[in-house]
Amino acid sequence: MAQSRSDADRLFIAGAGIGGLTTALALSRRARPVTVFEQAATIEPVGSGLQLSPNAMHVLRGLGLEEALRRHAVAPRAVRVMSARTGNAIAEIPLGEHAEQRYGAPYLVIHRADLHSVLLNAARASAGITLRLGTRLRDASQNAGAVKVELEQAATDGGAAHVDHGSGAGLIGADGVWSTVRRRVMNLRQAVFSGRTAYRAVIPAEDVPQHWRDVTGLWLGANAHVVHYPVSGGRQFNLVALVSEDWREERWSAPADREALLARFADWPAACRDLLARPPSWLKWALCGMDPGTDWVDGRVALMGDAAHAMLPFAAQGAGMSIEDGEALARAIDRIPDVPRALRSYQAERQNRAEKVLRLARANDRVYHMRGPMALARDAVMRGLPAGRLLARLDWLYGWRPPAAG
Ligand SMILES: Cc1cc2nc3c(=O)[nH]c(=O)nc-3n(C[C@H](O)[C@H](O)[C@H](O)COP(=O)(O)OP(=O)(O)OC[C@H]3O[C@@H](n4cnc5c(N)ncnc54)[C@H](O)[C@@H]3O)c2cc1C
Repeated sequence: MAQSRSDADRLFIAGAGIGGLTTALALSRRARPVTVFEQAATIEPVGSGLQLSPNAMHVLRGLGLEEALRRHAVAPRAVRVMSARTGNAIAEIPLGEHAEQRYGAPYLVIHRADLHSVLLNAARASAGITLRLGTRLRDASQNAGAVKVELEQAATDGGAAHVDHGSGAGLIGADGVWSTVRRRVMNLRQAVFSGRTAYRAVIPAEDVPQHWRDVTGLWLGANAHVVHYPVSGGRQFNLVALVSEDWREERWSAPADREALLARFADWPAACRDLLARPPSWLKWALCGMDPGTDWVDGRVALMGDAAHAMLPFAAQGAGMSIEDGEALARAIDRIPDVPRALRSYQAERQNRAEKVLRLARANDRVYHMRGPMALARDAVMRGLPAGRLLARLDWLYGWRPPAAG
């Protein structure tokens, strides 16, 4: 890797996922040169749905991406909470216009591939961002003045991979739940399997009854819950069934046994079983989490997003927290010229909030999967609360906005 004058300032980001690209865009808007290494040689449209709550949308709006995102996303009217015991609605939590007015930004649901392509197109159009696909960060080291990275560049002709080195001002580990920066560079404990598995499918929206197409559905049952919502501008429908299952594999798209999944939900209400029976095939994904309290920063190296605080998706904030992290990182680096101090300031700003969300996701895991009298009590409490109050309990989460947005 050739060394130029600006390389002394250059920041490296490992991982062109949601958090890595957000960070790169936020840094490039502050005229900071950045190189992003992504191990995947091509960006495939993988994954399924993600929720983009107003806190994340404030950041993406600040990056000029709201219009592009709205073309792909849907703003669900409400979250309809359903009992898997009775098949009846327990509560309807207003989103749509209500959430937008309350928080000043929309609550959207979107296919991960659409969010990723909006970020990627913006990154490709930014002169300050160098994107190196097919380039895996293998290791890194640092001294008082610089960080050195060791990279593995996949050969385009199928030959042996090429090893390359580079030197810059800092390294951001945005390399996701199975982070190399976390494990190898910072020598921290990796995320652990949670004993929960998510089954995911995306089907044409026209295959789904009309009354489900403008809301997020949340079915609560013993040891399992189901979430569904429209994606791809309302043309597709995302289904996720989350179960207690101790299956472990480090990949996003393992094929799942459809019949075994349907058997597992055999005693659920017909309306939910009917939805689960629609997809001809399912993928599954073993869910991981991390314990709060570890450092995210070591000198010129920092973790962000899932690499810092991988969490169960039960607060629907994995993407949201990595987007918030990206904005905070860029702001700290812009404000504080000394990179190690800037990274410490980023951690001080972010850690409590991200770990509070991580704990919320764990609490939701217990509450969503309650059984017997506990489940009855939960349903009674939710039924008794005015719908607006259920949303207001999350004001601290959705009401966040970056300081620059005022
Ligand atoms: C392929 C994929 C599909 C997903 N599908 C869903 C989904 O359907 N629903 C959902 O809620 N969440 C999904 N997620 C997770 C969700 O995107 C993240 O939890 C969230 O966005 C946090 O983002 P992140 O930037 O921290 O990590 P991620 O978005 O996971 O990005 C990490 C990136 O780092 C790259 N990487 C990893 N190691 C290295 C390395 N050593 N060198 C260079 N690059 C590296 C990965 O290839 C990946 O692109 C998916 C993630 C991935 C990678």
